Amino acid sequence: MLSFSELNDKVLIIGAGMVGLSIANQLVDRKISSNIVLIEKEDLLGLHSSGRNSGVLHAGIYYKPGSLKAKVCISGAKRLKKWIVQRGLPISNCGKLIVPQKKS
Ligand SMILES: Cc1cc2nc3c(=O)[nH]c(=O)nc-3n(C[C@H](O)[C@H](O)[C@H](O)COP(=O)(O)OP(=O)(O)OC[C@H]3O[C@@H](n4cnc5c(N)ncnc54)[C@H](O)[C@@H]3O)c2cc1C
Repeated sequence: MLSFSELNDKVLIIGAGMVGLSIANQLVDRKISSNIVLIEKEDLLGLHSSGRNSGVLHAGIYYKPGSLKAKVCISGAKRLKKWIVQRGLPISNCGKLIVPQKKS
C-alpha cells in the first residue's frame, strides 16, 4: 500500500456517500490533499444508505466497552455533533431510553 506522500497528494475516492465525502473533507481539512477526484455512479450525492438513514448519532453502547469500534463510535458522534452545532444545523438532543426485557 502507498503512503500519502508517495501518492503526491493525488487521491481517488470511489463513492460519494457519507464515507467517501467524509474522507474527502478530512483530507482537505488536515491539508493532506486538495487534489481529490471523487467518482460517483449516480447523478446526485448520497442517494443510497447515506441519504436514507435514520440520522441517529449512535452512542457506541452496542459495542464491547473499550473496543476500537466503541472508541471510534463515541469520538465520532461527539465530533459530528460539534460539526453540526458549529454550522447551525438542526439536531435533536433527545437521548435514548433502553429498557431490558429480562435480567441478564
Ligand atoms: C435504513 C437505514 C438506516 C440507517 N440508520 C443509521 C443511523 O441512524 N445512524 C447511522 O450512523 N447509520 C445508519 N445507517 C447506516 C449508514 O447510513 C451507513 O453506514 C452509511 O450511510 C454508509 O455510507 P457509505 O458512504 O459507506 O455508503 P453509501 O451511502 O451507500 O455510499 C456509497 C456510494 O458509492 C456509490 N458507488 C457504489 N459503487 C460505485 C461504483 N462502482 N462507482 C462509483 N460510485 C459507486 C453509490 O452510488 C453510493 O453513493 C442506516 C442505514 C440504513 C440502510
